[in-house]
Amino acid sequence: MITIYQPEVISKNGKSRLSADLIIDDKRRTLWFEVDMEYEKYLCYERSDAFLVACIYYAMRNGHDITCVAPVTQELLFNLNQHLIPALCKSAPTLHHLRIFTSYTSEELENDGGIGTGMSCGVDSFHTALQHIDSQDERQNLTHLVINDIGSFNAFNYGRYGVTKAREEIYTRARQVAALLDLPLIETDSNFYEIFRNFMNCHTYSTAFTVMALQKLWSVYYIASSYEYHQFSLDHHETKDSAYYDLLSLNCFSTRQLRFYCEGGALGRAEKTAAIVDFPLVQQNLHVCHRRGYNCGICKKCRRTMLTIDALGKLDEFSDVFPVDNYNRNLDTYIKWLEKNALEEDEFCVEIVAFMHQLGKYPEVTARISEMQERVKLTASLGLAENLSEQLREKSIQIEKMVLPLTPSKTSFPNKTQKRILALFKPFIRLTSPLEHLIWLEYDPSDFCASLKKKPYRLFVKFLSCFGPKPVRTGFNKEVIRKFLSKKPARTNAAKEK
Ligand SMILES: [Zn+2]
Repeated sequence: MITIYQPEVISKNGKSRLSADLIIDDKRRTLWFEVDMEYEKYLCYERSDAFLVACIYYAMRNGHDITCVAPVTQELLFNLNQHLIPALCKSAPTLHHLRIFTSYTSEELENDGGIGTGMSCGVDSFHTALQHIDSQDERQNLTHLVINDIGSFNAFNYGRYGVTKAREEIYTRARQVAALLDLPLIETDSNFYEIFRNFMNCHTYSTAFTVMALQKLWSVYYIASSYEYHQFSLDHHETKDSAYYDLLSLNCFSTRQLRFYCEGGALGRAEKTAAIVDFPLVQQNLHVCHRRGYNCGICKKCRRTMLTIDALGKLDEFSDVFPVDNYNRNLDTYIKWLEKNALEEDEFCVEIVAFMHQLGKYPEVTARISEMQERVKLTASLGLAENLSEQLREKSIQIEKMVLPLTPSKTSFPNKTQKRILALFKPFIRLTSPLEHLIWLEYDPSDFCASLKKKPYRLFVKFLSCFGPKPVRTGFNKEVIRKFLSKKPARTNAAKEK
């Protein structure tokens, strides 16, 4: 059990601190959140909301229920119990189905109608801020920027460089940007990370904690999306970045008085970069590095950002904040790094390659990477083909016609791996054309995955899906794939009749 005691506001070293004692495993800890005194009036000591949200992730992982001494906003409690907790537990059965023991209230809190977002000076935060400085609907425009210290300034990231030094440099930069945007900057501090650790996996919760701690200020808060909306996922969420399901969690944290938005998820990182590179404010203050108070140019975040800005042809404008000369001298090294990571399917590097291809930048590089990607997929498909042919033999299944999803350039000349795959299937195929004239089709494996359940069918689907989902071009759907296989499972027929 975790018990969250009544939050209180105290003054400490000229700052105002909202804190609550937590009893976790019979140990008393104090979780606190600190702001400048001028923001003290917004600290929400009347309710447990902020502290409850701070504890959810930890409690579910460590098998705790939670008791709150102060009431919780009724809507928040409802959202957590009805939506968030059941959804998280269903996708990760090892998590504890958290029970919350508390009173609740539907009374409205006083609220100053503030609209805020974090300003770390990274791509996501600049994108969010610039979208809401002067938007069409002025009721959605920012009134404040925030910079939080809730875990990103840790020894793992800034160890050798110095946590305090990095923090000071990053806060100074945020102050500069806030002044240029003519918005007040709220500088906060907290010991969240010391208590809960695991920053990456729970940073949605830690950010929501900082927002709810000031919930008498905010009516809207934008949290910059780390992923695109279509990447929403609860699969294995207990081992992943909580930002994958921000669309769910932020919706659940929202109440009638405080609306959270997951901002910018309609765009990928490269597209967000494209949207901000022309602003001098960004050219002079962009900071993406998680190793130094300046952009080191070596860590993966620096590399990815420089490659993206280079693809946009704007790198020279960023010479104040990135080691552009060094990049130009070592372009080959950067490109090799991009190739390696794109082939290992780092999603950001894959996106950069696609972006370069789209912009016609380094065409020989993108062509080479694309060819290598095909080769990697083909090699992976060989193992599956071996397994499938074995299944076909066991079940004495004959394939009437074999269609291999070859790339157009290889239609006439199957390469070594393709030939080996064909050889494996040969005993089962009555070929309607010689091997040199393999038919190439684009297909959509997801379309028929659901109905083909028996093992050979599943393997065939898996084998094809090695080539990635592509749009259907020639009516290659589940009807067509059924015709490839002379024996159809009864269940599939029944499903068809329905
Ligand atoms: Zn760096």
